[in-house]
Amino acid sequence: MREERAQKIREKLTVFGQGKLQDLITLYDFLQGSDITLEDVRDYLEYTKEFLRQLNLKQIKIHKERQEKWNRNTRRCPQCMMPLGLRPITTPKGKANREGYTCHWYCTEETCDFEEYMKEDFRKIYKKIMGGR
Ligand SMILES: [Zn+2]
Repeated sequence: MREERAQKIREKLTVFGQGKLQDLITLYDFLQGSDITLEDVRDYLEYTKEFLRQLNLKQIKIHKERQEKWNRNTRRCPQCMMPLGLRPITTPKGKANREGYTCHWYCTEETCDFEEYMKEDFRKIYKKIMGGR
């Protein structure tokens, strides 16, 4: 390759770096020897992006529905009437958990400081609120 041509190409492709350019050649050679076109790859990428986007939307919807169900069925804060959240406590009874608490009710209202510690089984309370086995 002549230096003049190399300089011209360098100006346009240097931004991609050596690694990406090598990948381009590898992919190009692969596509040449297959029945997959560049358009197929483009469509496949779009398809995959859309699939992941839909999956993400589904997960957001499921999470939102669970949250709404929780908020409908959970205890209300005795101080401000907002729905209470429930956290499991995994620290076993001992020095760090003298009373042997298993879960912690807390108010979901940021400005409210209500909290209550329990010794009931977290999963039982959760099932009572959310249903299921
Ligand atoms: Zn509250």
